[in-house]
Order: sequence, then C-alpha cells, then structure tokens
Amino acid sequence: MPPTADPLRFHDCPDTVPVVPGAYALLILLEAPLALGLPGKLAVVLAPGRYLYAGSARGPGGLRARVGRHFRREKTVRWHVDHLTTAGRMAGAWCEPGGDECALVAELAGLPVPVPGFGSSDCRACASHLLSWPEGAAMPSRFLPPHFSSGSPTIRCIKSAGP
Ligand SMILES: [Zn+2]
Repeated sequence: MPPTADPLRFHDCPDTVPVVPGAYALLILLEAPLALGLPGKLAVVLAPGRYLYAGSARGPGGLRARVGRHFRREKTVRWHVDHLTTAGRMAGAWCEPGGDECALVAELAGLPVPVPGFGSSDCRACASHLLSWPEGAAMPSRFLPPHFSSGSPTIRCIKSAGP
C-alpha cells in the first residue's frame, strides 16, 4: 500500500462513506445471543458483544452503497453477515478506499475468531472474516477508536434509512 493511500476512517453513518471501491470493517453490536445455523457449518450461538466483519465493495456505488446496505436492517438475508446486521446494531464501519478485505483481517489477526469460515468461504487466506472484539482487546493503531458524531453509538442512520 503506497504511503499516499487514503487512510482507514471510521464512519458511523453511510452518508459520509466515499463512493469508491475498497474494503471495510463493520463494527456490529450484539445485545442478545444470536443462534446461527449456517449451511454446511455447525450451529453456533454468538455471545452478546462487539463483532468486526471485513468485506469489500467493488460494484457500482462502491463502499457507500455496500456499507449502506449493511446499515439497513430491512433486507433479504443474503450473506452470513446479514444475520448479524439484522439482529444486532451497526455501530459503524472503518472504510479504506482501494483497500483489501483480507489485508484488514490480517491486521486484526490478534482478535478471536468466533466462527471459522464465516464470510470467508471463497477465501483461502483468512480463518474467518468475522472477528470478535472483547472488552479490553487492543486494536491496531491504524484502527483509530470509533468516533460517534452523535456522541454515542446510537442508530440514527438506521432509523432514517428504514421503511
Ligand atoms: Zn480473506
């Protein structure tokens, strides 16, 4: 990654996410246990807590369209992570224009993997694209602490984006 690359920025609302291709890491809050029955995987129950999910956006609308979809709770469950974003709360997303999702996962490799293979079925490099972020666990310095423009991780954007 050249030193001139856009930095990793945290967005608590999709309106500020750039309309360019790139990678993102979602910050999702689960307030209740979530039972997951994923095809081909053992049933697991995710404990309440904070989760990070890395993905990339290459299509029309770029990062803003993809991250905006993750913020919406009303949607057809299509990807593994949709189970979390519909049952939990999207607190925000670190976005990196031009970035690579697996590189983000590699940076976060010190965090626990709650479900092996989650979101990474077609990825050979990563154990999982979903990580948990326990209280007190350090994040790489490039992941600056989340800044919430509304003062707390509320879901003002989800409310305005719903039907
Ligand atoms: Zn990967």
